[in-house]
Amino acid sequence: MLRDEDRIFKNLYNDNQIDIDTSMKNGDWQDVKSIFSKGREWIINEVKSSELRGRGGAGFPTGLKWSFAPKEVGSRPHYLVINADESEPGTCKDRDILRFEPQKLIEGCLYASYAVNAKKCYIYIRGEYVKEGKILQNAINEAYEKKLIGKNASDTGWDLDIYIHFGAGAYICGEETALLESLEGNKGQPRLKPPFPALVGLYGCPTIVNNVETVAVVPTILRRGAKWFSSIGKPKNTGTKIFCISGNVNNPCNVEEEMGVPLKELIEKHAGGVIGGWDNLKAVIPGGSSMPLLPKKICETITMDFDSLVENKSGLGTAGIVVINKDQDIIKCIARIARFYKHESCGQCTPCREGSGWMWRMLERMAKGEASKDEVDMLFDVTKQIEGHTICAFGEGSAWPVQGLLRHFKKEIQKRNNFSPLIDSNKNIPYLIDQHLLEKDNA
Ligand code: SF4
Repeated sequence: MLRDEDRIFKNLYNDNQIDIDTSMKNGDWQDVKSIFSKGREWIINEVKSSELRGRGGAGFPTGLKWSFAPKEVGSRPHYLVINADESEPGTCKDRDILRFEPQKLIEGCLYASYAVNAKKCYIYIRGEYVKEGKILQNAINEAYEKKLIGKNASDTGWDLDIYIHFGAGAYICGEETALLESLEGNKGQPRLKPPFPALVGLYGCPTIVNNVETVAVVPTILRRGAKWFSSIGKPKNTGTKIFCISGNVNNPCNVEEEMGVPLKELIEKHAGGVIGGWDNLKAVIPGGSSMPLLPKKICETITMDFDSLVENKSGLGTAGIVVINKDQDIIKCIARIARFYKHESCGQCTPCREGSGWMWRMLERMAKGEASKDEVDMLFDVTKQIEGHTICAFGEGSAWPVQGLLRHFKKEIQKRNNFSPLIDSNKNIPYLIDQHLLEKDNA
């Protein structure tokens, strides 16, 4: 269990004021000048040795990402972009950082911008986070007034300007290249990679895109040292993490814990346990809706870190833990998620655009017990036709939850559908249901 003195986000529950003076009293903006005096390379190396991995979902090593920015600024300026477009269902950690700990993010932006040679930083915030955006803007204004950012920020000789940009509510704009397109004023559609944003990003210039939580933990790492951060958690899965626990629990909450904390401990100790007791647990989605669910048996012992979850064919993702108890219809739950992805597909790639709708319609039939016998295998085939065949990771994000259902609850699907001879002998019936659902969805 994480010790109180190792907690980075001390105001996660808004126990203190969020004004800049209180934040500074509680440790923000300390030693900025002395950290800058150690130089750019030192900052990047410290973040590298802390083994901090991106907290937005992919878990890419942050220090390594920063080192991809060109060492010298050429004819094109560098940019730092903060991804605050938190839209993954089950995830609300960045929201609490934005509204209760905004100075941690702003201070992190200062170090990150220096490390990657960017004098302009854009924070792309989810459109629905209107209140959070206002709080953040207020915090940025306070930091300007105290000369912590702006010209000669914090008396370091470094200049940094920070701008907020509100998104318009598309899930896909959380994908970094779609985010850049949207920031440029275009339709939010992912770009083909390579080239990667570190070389060709915003306005065709070198750009580093980082998640809110990733950047907000950097100041504490630089103050307390990489060794301190890497001593928490497990090798390659270090530090603390904000877990969001929702669904069928008695006390849904956000909690900062060490990486590698047992999932059962998070649910039982922090979220007040599963509604109806632990034995009433059916499954858990461990990392936001795009990650495959895990059945109760695995939830008994699994630890919450990138590598353990991958070993169990799931992922830490955004650490948005959605608890599903036996009162829920698991097939309907995944059908609902599939419908969300069908709706949010940007439509550029055929496997994603068409496949996400196919998956949803098949799952609706399965939930009603109206699927034909061969559809279970066909559904798996569809997920495989999507996975790895699209421009961006949204394809995987839409296919993986369905694969998780098939991996762990195939028997339940088979039992519910009973493979009625009527449906088996008349292939038109599923097609008619398909049309019916389509019409309903378009209504
Ligand atoms: Fe768009 Fe889906 Fe292709 Fe991503 S995978 S680019 S969301 S169609």
